[in-house]
Amino acid sequence: MLRKIFDRDGTLCWICRVPLDRKSSDLRLRVTLDHVTPASEGGDLQLYNLKAAHALCNERRGTLTDPASIRKWCRREVQRRISQTAVTERPNSTHS
Ligand SMILES: [Zn+2]
Repeated sequence: MLRKIFDRDGTLCWICRVPLDRKSSDLRLRVTLDHVTPASEGGDLQLYNLKAAHALCNERRGTLTDPASIRKWCRREVQRRISQTAVTERPNSTHS
């Protein structure tokens, strides 16, 4: 399912437009499938109603239908987390 969505949409988060990293160690940056139309409003699990988003952005969006209003906030938060992950994550040098 995720593969199909990536093929269709590319690997950008549909909310903040920052590239998704499937191997991120930050749980909030993990790739989630977001319902464009929330299930509570009749949205279903079909491909057309699903887009890939960061866990963080997905959660922040909640049931808003228009992500534009939160895009700025998400982008800033996601980029802050990405840079933190880059700083704290070091290559594992204990194995040789
Ligand atoms: Zn995002």
